[in-house]
Amino acid sequence: MAKKKSPRKAAPRASNRSNSHDPKFERVLGVFAHPDDPEFGAGGSMAKLAKDGANVTYVIVTDGSQGGEDPNQKDSELVSIRQREQRAAAKVLGIKRVEFLGYKDGHLAPDLKLRRDIVRMIRKHKPELVITHIPGRVLDAPMGGSHPDHIAVGEATMAAVYPDSRNPRAFRGLLKEGYQPHVVNEVWIPYWTLGDYFVDISKTLDLKLAALHKHKSQVAKPGQEWDIDKWVRKRHRDIGKKGGYQYAESFKRIKV
Ligand SMILES: [Zn+2]
Repeated sequence: MAKKKSPRKAAPRASNRSNSHDPKFERVLGVFAHPDDPEFGAGGSMAKLAKDGANVTYVIVTDGSQGGEDPNQKDSELVSIRQREQRAAAKVLGIKRVEFLGYKDGHLAPDLKLRRDIVRMIRKHKPELVITHIPGRVLDAPMGGSHPDHIAVGEATMAAVYPDSRNPRAFRGLLKEGYQPHVVNEVWIPYWTLGDYFVDISKTLDLKLAALHKHKSQVAKPGQEWDIDKWVRKRHRDIGKKGGYQYAESFKRIKV
Protein backbone atom coordinates (compact mmCIF):
# COMPACT_ATOMS: atom_id res chain seq x y z
CA MET A 1 0.00 0.00 0.00
CA ALA A 2 1.35 3.33 -0.98
CA LYS A 3 2.31 5.45 1.89
CA LYS A 4 -0.30 8.06 2.44
CA LYS A 5 1.09 11.41 1.60
CA SER A 6 1.04 13.60 4.63
CA PRO A 7 -0.88 16.79 4.09
CA ARG A 8 1.36 19.58 3.06
CA LYS A 9 2.06 21.91 5.88
CA ALA A 10 0.76 25.36 5.25
CA ALA A 11 3.63 27.72 4.54
CA PRO A 12 4.13 30.20 7.37
CA ARG A 13 2.60 33.53 6.61
CA ALA A 14 5.52 35.38 5.16
CA SER A 15 3.85 38.72 4.62
CA ASN A 16 4.12 39.90 8.19
CA ARG A 17 7.51 38.44 9.04
CA SER A 18 10.90 39.70 8.13
CA ASN A 19 12.90 36.88 6.56
CA SER A 20 15.26 36.06 3.74
CA HIS A 21 12.52 36.82 1.22
CA ASP A 22 12.24 40.38 2.45
CA PRO A 23 12.55 43.02 -0.17
CA LYS A 24 16.03 44.46 -0.24
CA PHE A 25 16.31 48.20 0.00
CA GLU A 26 19.06 50.28 -1.51
CA ARG A 27 18.05 53.52 0.13
CA VAL A 28 16.17 54.04 3.38
CA LEU A 29 15.19 57.35 4.99
CA GLY A 30 14.28 57.58 8.68
CA VAL A 31 12.38 60.79 9.50
CA PHE A 32 12.09 61.39 13.23
CA ALA A 33 11.34 64.31 15.55
CA HIS A 34 14.14 64.14 18.10
CA PRO A 35 17.64 62.76 18.51
CA ASP A 36 17.19 59.23 20.02
CA ASP A 37 13.76 58.59 18.40
CA PRO A 38 15.14 56.43 15.57
CA GLU A 39 17.05 54.24 18.03
CA PHE A 40 14.12 53.79 20.42
CA GLY A 41 11.63 53.14 17.63
CA ALA A 42 13.60 51.19 15.08
CA GLY A 43 17.30 50.89 16.04
CA GLY A 44 17.46 47.11 15.62
CA SER A 45 15.80 47.27 12.21
CA MET A 46 17.95 50.21 11.09
CA ALA A 47 21.07 48.19 11.93
CA LYS A 48 19.66 45.17 10.07
CA LEU A 49 18.78 47.22 6.99
CA ALA A 50 22.28 48.74 6.98
CA LYS A 51 23.91 45.29 7.43
CA ASP A 52 21.83 44.03 4.50
CA GLY A 53 23.36 46.72 2.32
CA ALA A 54 20.91 49.61 2.52
CA ASN A 55 22.19 53.13 2.50
CA VAL A 56 20.31 54.56 5.48
CA THR A 57 19.94 58.29 6.13
CA TYR A 58 18.36 59.88 9.18
CA VAL A 59 16.46 63.16 9.11
CA ILE A 60 16.10 64.59 12.62
CA VAL A 61 13.57 67.39 12.49
CA THR A 62 14.03 69.25 15.80
CA ASP A 63 17.10 70.47 17.61
CA GLY A 64 16.33 68.45 20.74
CA SER A 65 16.61 71.58 22.90
CA GLN A 66 13.77 70.58 25.23
CA GLY A 67 15.30 67.21 26.08
CA GLY A 68 16.67 68.19 29.48
CA GLU A 69 15.70 68.99 33.07
CA ASP A 70 17.83 72.10 33.64
CA PRO A 71 16.04 75.29 32.48
CA ASN A 72 19.34 77.21 32.82
CA GLN A 73 21.34 75.09 30.41
CA LYS A 74 22.01 77.00 27.20
CA ASP A 75 20.01 75.71 24.21
CA SER A 76 23.12 75.82 22.03
CA GLU A 77 25.03 73.60 24.46
CA LEU A 78 22.28 70.95 24.67
CA VAL A 79 21.70 71.05 20.89
CA SER A 80 25.33 70.34 20.14
CA ILE A 81 25.48 67.54 22.76
CA ARG A 82 22.41 65.90 21.26
CA GLN A 83 23.63 66.18 17.67
CA ARG A 84 26.94 64.64 18.70
CA GLU A 85 25.11 61.82 20.51
CA GLN A 86 22.85 61.22 17.50
CA ARG A 87 25.79 60.99 15.10
CA ALA A 88 27.55 58.55 17.42
CA ALA A 89 24.42 56.39 17.77
CA ALA A 90 23.91 56.31 14.00
CA LYS A 91 27.53 55.26 13.52
CA VAL A 92 27.05 52.30 15.88
CA LEU A 93 24.16 51.12 13.68
CA GLY A 94 26.12 51.53 10.44
CA ILE A 95 24.31 54.69 9.36
CA LYS A 96 26.54 57.23 7.72
CA ARG A 97 24.36 60.25 7.11
CA VAL A 98 22.31 62.33 9.55
CA GLU A 99 20.50 65.49 8.43
CA PHE A 100 19.32 67.94 11.10
CA LEU A 101 16.49 70.24 10.02
CA GLY A 102 16.90 72.43 13.12
CA TYR A 103 13.27 73.09 14.04
CA LYS A 104 12.73 74.13 17.66
CA ASP A 105 12.00 71.15 19.87
CA GLY A 106 8.39 71.07 21.11
CA HIS A 107 7.15 73.57 18.51
CA LEU A 108 6.26 71.35 15.55
CA ALA A 109 3.04 71.44 13.59
CA PRO A 110 2.34 69.34 10.48
CA ASP A 111 2.21 72.49 8.37
CA LEU A 112 3.17 73.14 4.77
CA LYS A 113 6.67 74.36 5.61
CA LEU A 114 7.51 71.15 7.46
CA ARG A 115 5.99 69.09 4.65
CA ARG A 116 8.04 70.92 2.04
CA ASP A 117 11.25 70.46 4.04
CA ILE A 118 10.59 66.71 4.32
CA VAL A 119 9.72 66.49 0.59
CA ARG A 120 13.10 68.11 -0.08
CA MET A 121 14.80 65.37 1.96
CA ILE A 122 12.86 62.60 0.19
CA ARG A 123 13.72 64.01 -3.24
CA LYS A 124 17.35 64.49 -2.24
CA HIS A 125 17.91 60.98 -0.84
CA LYS A 126 15.44 59.05 -3.07
CA PRO A 127 14.50 56.29 -0.58
CA GLU A 128 12.44 53.25 -1.53
CA LEU A 129 11.52 52.89 2.14
CA VAL A 130 10.66 55.67 4.62
CA ILE A 131 10.43 54.98 8.36
CA THR A 132 8.66 57.55 10.53
CA HIS A 133 6.40 58.16 13.53
CA ILE A 134 2.74 57.21 13.94
CA PRO A 135 0.73 60.10 12.43
CA GLY A 136 -1.73 60.33 15.32
CA ARG A 137 -2.23 59.94 19.04
CA VAL A 138 -2.10 56.38 20.37
CA LEU A 139 -4.41 55.84 23.33
CA ASP A 140 -3.36 52.29 24.21
CA ALA A 141 0.30 53.02 24.94
CA PRO A 142 2.25 55.25 27.36
CA MET A 143 2.01 58.94 26.46
CA GLY A 144 5.72 59.32 25.63
CA GLY A 145 5.15 57.79 22.22
CA SER A 146 2.49 60.38 21.39
CA HIS A 147 4.70 63.43 21.88
CA PRO A 148 3.10 66.19 19.79
CA ASP A 149 6.30 66.54 17.75
CA HIS A 150 6.11 62.83 16.86
CA ILE A 151 2.52 63.20 15.65
CA ALA A 152 3.47 66.28 13.60
CA VAL A 153 6.44 64.54 11.95
CA GLY A 154 4.40 61.37 11.29
CA GLU A 155 1.62 63.31 9.59
CA ALA A 156 3.90 65.68 7.64
CA THR A 157 6.01 62.74 6.45
CA MET A 158 3.02 60.71 5.30
CA ALA A 159 1.77 63.72 3.34
CA ALA A 160 5.26 64.28 1.95
CA VAL A 161 5.43 60.65 0.76
CA TYR A 162 1.99 60.88 -0.80
CA PRO A 163 1.20 62.94 -2.73
CA ASP A 164 3.88 65.62 -2.54
CA SER A 165 7.25 64.01 -3.23
CA ARG A 166 5.97 62.29 -6.38
CA ASN A 167 3.97 65.25 -7.67
CA PRO A 168 5.88 67.72 -9.89
CA ARG A 169 3.18 70.31 -9.30
CA ALA A 170 3.65 70.21 -5.51
CA PHE A 171 6.16 72.68 -3.99
CA ARG A 172 7.39 73.80 -7.39
CA GLY A 173 10.21 75.82 -5.82
CA LEU A 174 11.94 72.50 -5.14
CA LEU A 175 12.25 71.90 -8.90
CA LYS A 176 14.16 75.17 -9.15
CA GLU A 177 16.44 73.92 -6.36
CA GLY A 178 17.11 70.82 -8.51
CA TYR A 179 14.96 68.29 -6.61
CA GLN A 180 13.02 66.12 -9.03
CA PRO A 181 9.87 64.16 -8.05
CA HIS A 182 10.50 60.81 -6.41
CA VAL A 183 8.20 57.86 -5.74
CA VAL A 184 8.60 56.11 -2.36
CA ASN A 185 7.54 52.43 -2.40
CA GLU A 186 6.67 51.84 1.23
CA VAL A 187 6.49 53.32 4.72
CA TRP A 188 7.19 51.51 8.00
CA ILE A 189 5.85 52.97 11.21
CA PRO A 190 7.21 51.66 14.52
CA TYR A 191 4.14 50.57 16.47
CA TRP A 192 4.81 48.54 19.64
CA THR A 193 1.22 47.77 20.48
CA LEU A 194 -0.53 47.22 17.16
CA GLY A 195 2.31 46.59 14.74
CA ASP A 196 1.76 43.59 12.48
CA TYR A 197 5.01 43.48 10.53
CA PHE A 198 7.81 41.98 12.58
CA VAL A 199 11.51 42.48 11.98
CA ASP A 200 13.85 39.95 13.60
CA ILE A 201 16.35 41.99 15.62
CA SER A 202 17.83 39.06 17.56
CA LYS A 203 21.22 39.71 15.94
CA THR A 204 21.08 43.51 16.19
CA LEU A 205 19.55 44.07 19.63
CA ASP A 206 23.00 44.56 21.17
CA LEU A 207 23.76 47.24 18.58
CA LYS A 208 20.46 48.94 19.38
CA LEU A 209 21.37 48.97 23.08
CA ALA A 210 24.86 50.28 22.35
CA ALA A 211 23.37 53.02 20.16
CA LEU A 212 20.84 53.98 22.84
CA HIS A 213 23.68 54.36 25.35
CA LYS A 214 25.28 56.94 23.05
CA HIS A 215 22.33 59.20 23.96
CA LYS A 216 23.87 59.72 27.37
CA SER A 217 22.05 63.02 28.03
CA GLN A 218 18.75 61.12 27.71
CA VAL A 219 19.32 57.64 29.09
CA ALA A 220 21.70 58.41 31.94
CA LYS A 221 20.11 61.45 33.57
CA PRO A 222 21.39 62.11 37.09
CA GLY A 223 19.16 60.43 39.69
CA GLN A 224 17.37 58.38 37.07
CA GLU A 225 16.95 54.80 38.17
CA TRP A 226 16.03 53.24 34.91
CA ASP A 227 17.52 49.97 33.78
CA ILE A 228 17.21 50.77 30.12
CA ASP A 229 18.78 47.49 28.93
CA LYS A 230 16.30 45.44 30.94
CA TRP A 231 13.36 47.53 29.74
CA VAL A 232 14.37 47.43 26.07
CA ARG A 233 15.14 43.69 26.14
CA LYS A 234 11.78 42.91 27.73
CA ARG A 235 9.86 45.01 25.24
CA HIS A 236 11.49 43.35 22.25
CA ARG A 237 11.22 39.89 23.76
CA ASP A 238 7.46 40.48 24.18
CA ILE A 239 7.12 41.73 20.60
CA GLY A 240 9.31 38.82 19.46
CA LYS A 241 6.84 36.34 20.96
CA LYS A 242 4.09 37.77 18.73
CA GLY A 243 6.29 37.60 15.62
CA GLY A 244 7.96 34.24 16.30
CA TYR A 245 11.45 35.60 16.98
CA GLN A 246 13.64 35.87 20.05
CA TYR A 247 13.63 39.67 19.76
CA ALA A 248 11.66 41.77 17.29
CA GLU A 249 10.57 45.29 16.43
CA SER A 250 7.07 45.72 15.08
CA PHE A 251 5.76 48.09 12.45
CA LYS A 252 2.76 49.01 10.41
CA ARG A 253 4.00 48.39 6.89
CA ILE A 254 2.23 50.52 4.31
CA LYS A 255 2.65 50.00 0.59
CA VAL A 256 2.45 53.30 -1.24
ZN1 LIG B 1 10.91 61.99 20.54
